[in-house]
Amino acid sequence: MQNITILGATGSIGQSTLDVIALHPDKFNVVALTAHSNIDKLIEQAKTCQPEFLVISDQANYLQTKQKLARAKLSCELLTGHQGLCHVAQLESVDSVMAAIVGAAGLLPTLSAVKAGKKVMLANKESLVMCGDIFIQEVNKSGAQLLPIDSEHNAIFQCLPQSFEYGDLAASGIAKILLTGSGGPFLTRPLDSFDKITPDQACAHPNWDMGRKISVDSATMMNKGLEFIEAKWLFGLACEDIQIVLHPQSIIHSMVQYVDGSVLAQMGNPDMRTPIAHCLSFPERIDSGVKPLDFSALTDFSFELADFNRYPNLRTAIEACKAGQYATTTLNAVNEISVEAFLSGRIRFTDIARLNRRIVEQSEACALNSVDDVIALDQQVRKLALQQLDKACA
Ligand code: NAD
Ligand code: MG
Repeated sequence: MQNITILGATGSIGQSTLDVIALHPDKFNVVALTAHSNIDKLIEQAKTCQPEFLVISDQANYLQTKQKLARAKLSCELLTGHQGLCHVAQLESVDSVMAAIVGAAGLLPTLSAVKAGKKVMLANKESLVMCGDIFIQEVNKSGAQLLPIDSEHNAIFQCLPQSFEYGDLAASGIAKILLTGSGGPFLTRPLDSFDKITPDQACAHPNWDMGRKISVDSATMMNKGLEFIEAKWLFGLACEDIQIVLHPQSIIHSMVQYVDGSVLAQMGNPDMRTPIAHCLSFPERIDSGVKPLDFSALTDFSFELADFNRYPNLRTAIEACKAGQYATTTLNAVNEISVEAFLSGRIRFTDIARLNRRIVEQSEACALNSVDDVIALDQQVRKLALQQLDKACA
């Protein structure tokens, strides 16, 4: 029996994880669930899987959650705040942790699981973007097992040889990592109408059903930029090793190209339950509930290169990746501010990339030697980005 903590249980990835777990009650036991503010969903989930711990991370929701738990006659221990999240990520009784909190808020709880040497199923790509170097050092120190949930990185992981050594592509005869992306909902929309894009349009992804932050990131292709940086850290790649390929149908989830001309691709319907099931049961395979791919129904199967004019965030992200950790920490922080400002109607869609670029260009190279340094820079950038929000729209 695998004992599991799900960080961010009420989100899109958290819910899909519970869906896969529900298919295999003999294999998985949920020890802890966490949510930030969706009390009702958390309680509903707790009724089904009866975890020992619940965390409602927004402390303002603690009392109300406690009352609702009592009313539902649930005996789970209720924790709150950032300490509560870190606590359930490193419990002795827990074997594996699904890291599915969105954004920088996921960094410390995910690191807590890493430091405790857990099997960490990483959906929270932002923690590698903010803190990749230190994060990987901690993985190596603790012996944690890091498994990628992000569908592209999960695909790459599946296409790499078992003997792959971190960072050593040549030894495995690998020429390139081909990171695929759909291009999002605005692949063919006329560029001169981009400033009219609304939050609901940006969140309506043609292939994937996701949380709102990652949906906007997919529409601007910042998501692919963050994934470029994530791939660098997960597999120890140089920026030159990674090529982004647009594949609008999202059937291939990424590929590995070998020096002999072979290209291995991982395919499947676009449904996060596949990489989730893969990580939950690795190295075995289990049913995920995902419909098998029906080749008779595939009409289009196409590829193209990404256009930086359409996706300026992608250029900024790749340049930040080349510049180093301070630049990607900066990028992540400003992007969280600009996406939130767009979702709440303060700035236009096109302002997101403008503000991101402006703040990354202003950032000065500095060494980040500790997680505290990373968090200090993250906070400083958020403040600066908020100050410049209005200028970005001018
Ligand atoms: P979501 O918005 O649907 O859910 C986010 C979860 O994080 C919720 O449970 C929420 O309660 C929690 N949360 C939000 N703010 C928090 C805070 N300040 N402190 C603690 N918890 C907080 O997001 P999602 O789409 O499930 O994405 C989660 C992560 O997985 C993101 O990092 C995203 O990039 C990554 N990811 C998602 C998908 C996808 O298909 N949804 C695919 C690949 C990677
Ligand atoms: Mg992805």
